[in-house]
Amino acid sequence: MDFGQGVVGAVVSKGKLLASALPLVAELGHTPVPGNDRRCGCGAVGCLETLASTEGLLESYRLVAKKANPSWNSLVADVHKRGIEPWLTCALNSTADVIAGALNVLGLRRVILTGNLCDLPEAVLEKIKSRVCSGALWARFGNVECLRAPRRRSAGLVAFGIDRLLLPSSGNEPERSRERPGKSLKSRGIRIRTAVRNLTR
Ligand SMILES: [Zn+2]
Repeated sequence: MDFGQGVVGAVVSKGKLLASALPLVAELGHTPVPGNDRRCGCGAVGCLETLASTEGLLESYRLVAKKANPSWNSLVADVHKRGIEPWLTCALNSTADVIAGALNVLGLRRVILTGNLCDLPEAVLEKIKSRVCSGALWARFGNVECLRAPRRRSAGLVAFGIDRLLLPSSGNEPERSRERPGKSLKSRGIRIRTAVRNLTR
């Protein structure tokens, strides 16, 4: 789950990136949060994204810090200095509740957080993890992991491209790119090199 301009996730289940009938998967940031009346860019009111995105967190911080346009760096410094104050608690609890619900639906037990939350102190991750464990059913039976990691978008895109082009037997290859046996290896190699070159630019 990535936190930045928006709040969005990707789901990997049984080693595969989850796809669905609609081009909308793991849009966890657009889950409504009770009591939240902020209008979201998607047109709805109350989405998690309006609380936990960079802009959402800055808006909450601005209201209590009484600064006209606080920077992300000043927010981060304040949280490191003062710890988790009430203005931040709502965003963290809401984030954890949405994640816990997703884990229960998907039957997963590991969450990786990337993006702006990685700038905040370890206590923030621990608070999210604690709340996720409260809501995730698997925590009653085993370990639920909640980790944070740096963004590696280029590496992820390369891995995804290779998975789609090199491992079509995994069922990830789109219908339109299937080829006749015998022809596929050479052309697939060319396509992989082209995809990697494009994705790493
Ligand atoms: Zn929304």
